[in-house]
Amino acid sequence: MSDCNASTCKRVADLLLQFRDGSLPAEDLAFVREHLHRCPPCVGIFDSYQEVIDVLQRLQPVRMPEGLMERMRHKVAEGASMDDEGPCEDAEPCSDEEPGEA
Ligand SMILES: [Zn+2]
Repeated sequence: MSDCNASTCKRVADLLLQFRDGSLPAEDLAFVREHLHRCPPCVGIFDSYQEVIDVLQRLQPVRMPEGLMERMRHKVAEGASMDDEGPCEDAEPCSDEEPGEA
């Protein structure tokens, strides 16, 4: 019985993000956890996932710098490059007339 084959590892790789999220169903959670115990390569993949996610989270600004919204608002008010593109108009709502109930 082989715990570690290509298709098992692939399945684990697919589940790793959710595994990290904690959004994995208990069944899959146990499966991934167990597999990670026996399969160092998958642990490596998991580690690299963590690193990527860590970097991405660091890149995302947690909060807007104070005054930024204010400055943007001023810029818009000045009409900077707002000439060509008008505001998006709402799509016309479908006016299907519903047949009256009999
Ligand atoms: Zn594996």
